[in-house]
Amino acid sequence: MIQSYTQLAQLEEHYDAIVIGSGMGGLTTAAILAKEGQKVLVLERHYIAGGFTHVFKRKGYEWDAGIHYIGEVHKKNSLLRKLFDYISNGELKWADIGEVYDRIFIGDQQFDFVKGVNNFKKQMISCFPEEEGAINKYVDLVFKAVASSKNYYMSKVLPSFVDALFGKWMKKSFYHFSDRTTDEVLRSLTKNETLIKVLTGQYGDYGLPPKQSSFSMHASVARHYFDGGNFPIGGSSQIVKTIAPVIAASGGAILVNAEVKEVLIEKNRAVGVLMNDGKIVRAKKVVSDAGIMTTYLKLLPEATVEKHKLKAQSQKVNRSVAHTSLCIGFKATPQELDLPKTNFWIYPAQGDHDTCVDRYLNDLNQPFPVIYLSFPSAKDPDWLNRYPGKSTIDIITLIPYETFAKWEDKPWGKRGKDYEALKEEIAQRLLKELYKHLPQVEGKVDYYELSTPLSTKHFVNYEKGEIYGLDHSPARFRQSFLKPKTPIKNFYLTGQDIVTAGIGGALVSGALTGIAMTGKNILKKL
Ligand SMILES: Cc1cc2nc3c(=O)[nH]c(=O)nc-3n(C[C@H](O)[C@H](O)[C@H](O)COP(=O)(O)OP(=O)(O)OC[C@H]3O[C@@H](n4cnc5c(N)ncnc54)[C@H](O)[C@@H]3O)c2cc1C
Repeated sequence: MIQSYTQLAQLEEHYDAIVIGSGMGGLTTAAILAKEGQKVLVLERHYIAGGFTHVFKRKGYEWDAGIHYIGEVHKKNSLLRKLFDYISNGELKWADIGEVYDRIFIGDQQFDFVKGVNNFKKQMISCFPEEEGAINKYVDLVFKAVASSKNYYMSKVLPSFVDALFGKWMKKSFYHFSDRTTDEVLRSLTKNETLIKVLTGQYGDYGLPPKQSSFSMHASVARHYFDGGNFPIGGSSQIVKTIAPVIAASGGAILVNAEVKEVLIEKNRAVGVLMNDGKIVRAKKVVSDAGIMTTYLKLLPEATVEKHKLKAQSQKVNRSVAHTSLCIGFKATPQELDLPKTNFWIYPAQGDHDTCVDRYLNDLNQPFPVIYLSFPSAKDPDWLNRYPGKSTIDIITLIPYETFAKWEDKPWGKRGKDYEALKEEIAQRLLKELYKHLPQVEGKVDYYELSTPLSTKHFVNYEKGEIYGLDHSPARFRQSFLKPKTPIKNFYLTGQDIVTAGIGGALVSGALTGIAMTGKNILKKL
């Protein structure tokens, strides 16, 4: 069902749709089309399918590239759960990561985000008793901002004439929240700097600190996790494994090692794709899950980009920050190492989040502005069946692409001694932080490997190693071109740039693209 590109010749010659990229958005659209009886070919350039849902293996360990926890999927009636059940025929299973999903460390202080919104409020109020009013108002605003997003996202699939009539009205209340930064909204509620720093302690989930991020994005992440976090049982690879049979059931396939060079456009109509090796694959419709920047600046022919002024559109949005990730393996079980399921967010004591980011960007030797510790092997109840006697930890922090830009033309695995030395220096700094918080693992590391923004570029094709596609500033949410339908006939967009970063965002985006392509409201069906 997931096949290599070399098998293309043995497959059908004509497809109803081609999806470029097998990320969460692309897989969702492909499965939705397949459920409507369409034959869909998913083309993935990496040798592993799944985009950021893929797992990679080294030296007998496995790490998840872009999943640490997902909210809402444990509730059978939530939209995200229904969507996952629909596209995986109910085969994807979830494990709760426990009562405390996130723990925020600010210097020596720690604050728990406890599952259940009332528990969350109680916990916050117990830490900041004089801020009870502000905390209650904050939670209310989070719910209001999220409620306003439903119409906004649905407006992305309205036919143009309906959008012209009702779009403005449908988006109005969303813009009330999305036009303001997270910092502006929080400062309207409290002057308590520590409380602001704690409540925005998940900003790493969307990559922009409070003075730059849209409150709508912040609210969407905060709300998403209020009822706790979940992890796919069997690891992130289960996502593509359970969706692939749904695509295959209608005669479709997922091909890896299948890099698309260009979308074929004839008379302003997408008719297929040109592969990197020169082969042409035709289809009635083409969808790109490769991100706006890659799609506009690399995959569409220049004449099309010029005709629709797509370059100018791409300049209205910014790429998100890049990251580095230290993947660590231990020859001991999560229980033996006493690893938690809770994610740790570690912040410097001094300065608000924006100050910490600025300080670090000016001098990378300053403390990391955020360090995220995740314990995937402790979260997955199936882990020990696959990896007996072992466990893993991931450490993530932000790092500018420019730090590694001078090696961008060197091939993966052969970037030389200086590159390796810089990686080692960063790895040691991150390990030091790990030992501060989990002293019991010191001396027990069996293997570690640091990914850089060049790894993200190499494996997932984000040109500047963007962790989350486009950044989530107020301006981003004002861009009407971030929607499934494009000015090119039969050519559609999907993935995190259309809704927001996050598995939930890409999933919903995949569904919206499915709606735009079939004209059927799949969400109503669910
Ligand atoms: C380190 C990290 C941690 C994260 N943690 C979480 C988390 O805990 N919870 C959560 O909800 N979200 C998390 N996210 C975010 C989430 O993983 C992403 O937002 C989401 O998976 C993006 O999905 P997408 O559909 O946009 O496609 P992507 O996953 O970006 O996939 C795009 C695919 O297109 C392919 N492609 C590109 N160009 C071509 C081409 N020319 N030909 C063929 N294929 C091509 C790429 O190889 C890639 O596979 C995390 C992300 C990262 C990076």
